[in-house]
Amino acid sequence: MKRENEIPAAASFMAPYAFPSSETAGRRYPEPPHPYRQPFQRDRDRIIHCAAFRRLSEKMQVFTAEFGNYHRTRLTHTLEVSCIARTIGRALLLNEDLIEAAALLHDIGHSPFGHAGEAALNTLLQDCGGFEHNAQALRIVEKLVRRYVNFPGLNLSKEILDGQSYKMTKQGVPLLEIQTADIADSIAYDTHDVDDAVEIGLLTAGQLIQTPLWKRSVKRVRQLFSGLDDTELCRAVIRDLIEIQVSDVLTASAIRLEGISSHSEARRTMMIAPSADIAGQKKEMEQFLLENVYRHPSVMLHRRRVAEWIETIFDFYVSQPDRLPVSYLPIVHIEGIKRAAGDFTADQTDRTLRAELLRYKNGFGKPLSPKNPL
Ligand code: MG
Repeated sequence: MKRENEIPAAASFMAPYAFPSSETAGRRYPEPPHPYRQPFQRDRDRIIHCAAFRRLSEKMQVFTAEFGNYHRTRLTHTLEVSCIARTIGRALLLNEDLIEAAALLHDIGHSPFGHAGEAALNTLLQDCGGFEHNAQALRIVEKLVRRYVNFPGLNLSKEILDGQSYKMTKQGVPLLEIQTADIADSIAYDTHDVDDAVEIGLLTAGQLIQTPLWKRSVKRVRQLFSGLDDTELCRAVIRDLIEIQVSDVLTASAIRLEGISSHSEARRTMMIAPSADIAGQKKEMEQFLLENVYRHPSVMLHRRRVAEWIETIFDFYVSQPDRLPVSYLPIVHIEGIKRAAGDFTADQTDRTLRAELLRYKNGFGKPLSPKNPL
């Protein structure tokens, strides 16, 4: 067996099908090059330093704080996505900076309370364009952030913005680095949602054995270790599920990429994806999660409560625009009160939305938000 320090470190060169930072189409508002950071490193840093990214730490992935303190938040999910995506990217000699920036950006547009919050806001904003988290991510990084002197938003590189647009439209074939961030998202949530649901007590290994991906992994783990109790087996299987999926993506993608000599040639069809076998098993796992976790009675009960909370706060600010923090007032003037109230509501975290509700019940005393939170 090789020792850990014999495994090659960071890729010192990129494959011919990787997207080189030197070929970036640049930024909407041109900026001089940075003396020691590549363009996509700057994008990554701008994303990490923006308030919307920090707020992910208090936004739910699938489970709220009521379910305990084991499960993922939107931020830790994002970090797992970035970690898996960089592993895949490094092994395939892709542009790791671009991958990391795309992964860290991908969920930045989520409202409080995950997809339940998103659905509620979408209904409330129906007559002015709706609400969708991928579109909101672009709105934040192109328009809403007001922290730079020379431009609105974060002025990210075109490749990062195009990657985020692809998540909305699903049209065309994105760069390999964007595909990598996307598949890592799916590997991360398929695995950690199972882990969280098991630890919280919503799922058992007995139920999971119905799914072929779980069954496959149990077999692999049993070949490696004997005498595991149920808990130990379950935990080993969770780790192995990531290993199976990442290894499969690497093998299947490397075959597709054979003979590809440029990033444009690589964009004829999706390349960074699982084999047909694992893709089918992932689909079954996702269907199983939908039926047994995302639609679990305790999760569904919460969804209904969330819709009421979001509506209460949104309606309050629509009826009293002058109570919004001052940084939202330009949005009121240009795009109307509904969009501004939607942005404000989406910018809340699970915790601050609950605090807003408390303030609402107490007659809205001292403002919770700082004057200029954008
Ligand atoms: Mg995600």
